[in-house]
Amino acid sequence: MVVASKAPRILLVEDEDALATLVTYNLEAEGFIVEHAARGDEADLMLLENPPDLAILDWMLPGLSGIEICRRLRAREATQTLPVIMLTARGQEDERVRGLSTGADDYVVKPFSVPELVARIRALLRRASPERVADQLVAGEIVLDRASRRVHRGARELDLGATEFRLLEHLMEKPGRVYTRAQLLDAVWGQSAEIDERTVDVHVGRLRKELSRPKQQDPIRTVRGAGYGFDENFGK
Ligand code: CA
Repeated sequence: MVVASKAPRILLVEDEDALATLVTYNLEAEGFIVEHAARGDEADLMLLENPPDLAILDWMLPGLSGIEICRRLRAREATQTLPVIMLTARGQEDERVRGLSTGADDYVVKPFSVPELVARIRALLRRASPERVADQLVAGEIVLDRASRRVHRGARELDLGATEFRLLEHLMEKPGRVYTRAQLLDAVWGQSAEIDERTVDVHVGRLRKELSRPKQQDPIRTVRGAGYGFDENFGK
């Protein structure tokens, strides 16, 4: 059985460009989908139109403060329980924030460490929807561990490069689904990557070689004229 579906979407509302870039970069590396707004009023609209799985709100923002955004989120039925992390500057954290009476679920004081922020995000998401942030993807004897970035097939630990790991992770998230090479390039290499689609074949080849020893069942399906997928019946 494979646990976990698509990557959680996070809205980051932060007006300091450098910090927003740093956090976005790191959260994307952790597998989250990140949207960013630099103004409070802009964020308020985004939250109204298409609520994410979690929001990170800076307290002091142009347009509308983080606290006011949070108050509005809680007043709307669709976002009443949306996980919210508030960012505050040191010295700004008064009783309202400490008591989380702003409606935020958690708060982080700047400057913070990115791993700390990631840990809090995962904890909140786990509470909100446990299957979205499963630490492990499991199919038969194949176990992919996101936290340690390790993959085992039975007792054997696989020696995968970073690209092969992401490729396998992506395929295992939706067993049975067939992806075109272009879709895999987008998901695994990123939309800006200008890479030949044959590169996908090369990495799938490497992944397969490491994943399956001779006589072992190959969990990766090649669909002629379409692309690749993870066999939903593997290990069943
Ligand atoms: Ca700010």
